[in-house]
Amino acid sequence: MKKIAFIGAGSMAEAIIAGIVKHEVLPANAIYVTNHSNKERLARLHEQYGVTPFRDVENIKDVDVLIFATKPNQIAEVLPKYASLTNAIIVSVLAGTPLATFEATFPNQAIARVMPNTSATIGESASGVAWNTKVTDEAKRWVTSLVEAIGIVQEVDEEQLHTVTGLSGSGPAYVYFFVEALEAAAIQEGLDPKTARELAIQTIKGAALMLDETREEPATLRERVTSPNGTTAAGLDALREHQFAETIHACVQAAKQRSIELG
Ligand code: NAD
Repeated sequence: MKKIAFIGAGSMAEAIIAGIVKHEVLPANAIYVTNHSNKERLARLHEQYGVTPFRDVENIKDVDVLIFATKPNQIAEVLPKYASLTNAIIVSVLAGTPLATFEATFPNQAIARVMPNTSATIGESASGVAWNTKVTDEAKRWVTSLVEAIGIVQEVDEEQLHTVTGLSGSGPAYVYFFVEALEAAAIQEGLDPKTARELAIQTIKGAALMLDETREEPATLRERVTSPNGTTAAGLDALREHQFAETIHACVQAAKQRSIELG
C-alpha cells in the first residue's frame, strides 16, 4: 500500500485529504499529517478523517509521496527537515514556489508542482500540474490520482503555471465578482436582493453545467440562445461596447504578471 504524508495541515491539505478519503484513492490509515504547532487541528483531522498525525521525519521514513502544503514563506525552514526522504515523490501545492526550490533539496527525485484553486474545498478544483524531468509515468499516474481527488487537473509546462494562476487559480474570485455585479445590476433594475441572488447563482451553475455536460463550444451555446434583435443580443452588444473580452484579457494578464513577480 502507498503511504503519503502532508507537511502543513491547513485548508488546502484538508481539502486534498477529504477528497482522497471520500473517493477512496487511499485508505485513511495510509495518510500522515503534520503541522507547525496546532495540536487541536491535527487531533480534529485524525478524528474526522482517520489520518495519522506525526511529529518527526523518523515516523514517515517509508513514505511514497510527500506533499508540501505550508505557506510559501514557510518552506525554506521546512525543506531541510525532510531531505533524508530520498525515495519519495515530492508534490508541492505552494503558489509561486518553483520546482527548482524543491530540486535543491531533492535533486534526484520526481517532483510535481500543483496549482489548485479554492473550489478544492468542495472537490471541484480546476488544477494545473507541472513535472520536473525526473518524473516517471508511474509517478505521474500517482500524483494525478491524488490531485483528481479534489477536481480536474491539466498538465502544463512550469512556465505556463503563471497563466494557469491567472485563469483558474484566481478564477473563482472573478466569478464571484461577476455574480456581485449581476446582483447589483438586477437590484438597481428592480429585483429584491434575495431573488437576484438565487437567479444569479443558478444562472452561473446552469451555464457551467451546460458547458461541462454538452461539451459544445461556448460560442455555439451563446449563438443558440441569441436571436437576432432579441434581448440576449442587446445584452451581449452592451458587453462588447464596454470591452468585455478586453477587460477579461487584462484581468488574466494582470494576475499572470503578478504570479511572475511573486514567483
Ligand atoms: P494554511 O495557512 O491554511 O496552511 C498552512 C499550514 O502549514 C498551517 O497549518 C501551518 O501550521 C503549517 N506549517 C507552517 N510551518 C510549518 C512547518 N514548519 N512544519 C509543518 N507545518 C507547517 O494555508 P492554505 O490555504 O492551506 O495554503 C497552503 C498552500 O496552498 C499555500 O502555499 C498556498 O499558496 C497553496 N494554495 C492554496 C490555495 C487555496 O485555495 N487555499 C490555492 C492554491 C494554492
